[in-house]
Amino acid sequence: MRSRWRFSVIALIVAVGVVLSGSSPSLARQNLALPPLTTYPLPSSLATLPPAGDDYFTEVQPLEVGYLLWTAFPVTVAIDPPPRDPNNLWAQAAQQAVAEWSAYLPLQIVPPTATANIRLQSERPSDQNNRRVRAAETSYELFVDSNGLLRHRVRVVVRPTQAPRYVLAALRHELGHALGIWGHSPLPTDALYFAQVADPPPISQRDVNTLRRVYEQPTRLGQPMPEVASHG
Ligand SMILES: [Zn+2]
Repeated sequence: MRSRWRFSVIALIVAVGVVLSGSSPSLARQNLALPPLTTYPLPSSLATLPPAGDDYFTEVQPLEVGYLLWTAFPVTVAIDPPPRDPNNLWAQAAQQAVAEWSAYLPLQIVPPTATANIRLQSERPSDQNNRRVRAAETSYELFVDSNGLLRHRVRVVVRPTQAPRYVLAALRHELGHALGIWGHSPLPTDALYFAQVADPPPISQRDVNTLRRVYEQPTRLGQPMPEVASHG
């Protein structure tokens, strides 16, 4: 167990790698001025759930922007399947993972060519680099949109070189990260368990309870960037 925990911590560090990019020059400054923390109303799909029970919210990490939750709905998801996807297995798994989480947050699949909040990919263009290749990985970027709001976008990479049910389990797990569960469950009966298990579970009540608690938390996302004094 000890070594598996270690693995999970390494995976999480990769997952929280953040790239600050955007059209606003102020975002690149060292003394970055961020919007204040704001709490949003719970999406009705979460608000109407029965009162929450057990969860693993204490494992979810707040970031410098607060919790990594979506502040506008539906959340758009683009699916980039592998070039060779026999019987559409990868694409179907991606659609199913989106459908499963759609029970809890409004998600909308958009064409691969469209701009999307979340992009599910089978591989990423930078794989030629000698960085370590992982079976699955989620990363996010912050940017300032055309209305001056601090936003994020998420990229999920799940490789097709696994048995279909593991591809689905990985997509389900990573999509949980993409929707805001920025941490791992210590129990193998949760989709956000830190390790792959032989018989992957569906989204659990604990996963959903944790997601709801995330959306009750404050974030700096979705708010206007503060005016920054110009330095000529
Ligand atoms: Zn994970």
